[in-house]
Amino acid sequence: MQSFNYHTHTVRCGHAVGKDEEYIQNAIKSGFQVLGFSEHLGYDGWDDPQERIPFLEMDAYFQRMYELKEKYKDQIEIRVGVEFEYFEDKKEYLKDVQSRCDYMIVGQHAKNFDHYYDHGCSDDDVDYMAEQIIAALDAKLTTYVAHVDYFMLGKEDFTKRNEEAIARICDAVNRNDAVLEINLKGMKYGKKVYPTGMQYMYPHYDVFKIIANKGCKVVFGYDAHNPSVLLDRSLEQIAQKEMQGLQLHFIDTLKL
Ligand SMILES: [Zn+2]
Ligand SMILES: [Zn+2]
Repeated sequence: MQSFNYHTHTVRCGHAVGKDEEYIQNAIKSGFQVLGFSEHLGYDGWDDPQERIPFLEMDAYFQRMYELKEKYKDQIEIRVGVEFEYFEDKKEYLKDVQSRCDYMIVGQHAKNFDHYYDHGCSDDDVDYMAEQIIAALDAKLTTYVAHVDYFMLGKEDFTKRNEEAIARICDAVNRNDAVLEINLKGMKYGKKVYPTGMQYMYPHYDVFKIIANKGCKVVFGYDAHNPSVLLDRSLEQIAQKEMQGLQLHFIDTLKL
């Protein structure tokens, strides 16, 4: 079982439940040594109460998390972070956020403030998403790519062009010594029939086949939106079984 989880949300994003400290207490119970909070980043001009922290509440979030980090320091290592989307015109803001927290993970849910990729995604959109993730890595904003296959929620099939987009992301991950996440929350959306068989939309087997062939480092991310998720360590085994046959390069420790 993995000793760390860097993908944890809080009620502040509008679609998670539970108290901050319940996440921490459950992580301790489950034997995690490191728990990272990665709340959905708020952006000036993009208040979306169901999706992310209000922009003006970011400071209070960081402050509270650093208090909890101190409070629990003898029991578990808390890391304070955010899950962000990369937008070229927000690069300065992202650099500023980076300077105010321990780490950032890129979870590219959206093309822009108006279009989320799970609400429909063309091959052009996947190419665009790949460029956003690659830019985030090359700008050294992050070394952790959350659910690179999230876009499959908005697509019917995984095409040749998508394979190439994933391969480009893998190259950027490797040259930046970054990791790709097997997102354990994705399994709750269930499986669909694809030309290559029944698969989860994400974590998507055909995507991880490329990741395995590219030799990228991979980790599990619980993407917890409910404290109870951190008690269910069997999710790792279920995902591992799903990825059977792939030579994935799991790592034992990760310091973000
Ligand atoms: Zn979320
Ligand atoms: Zn996400």
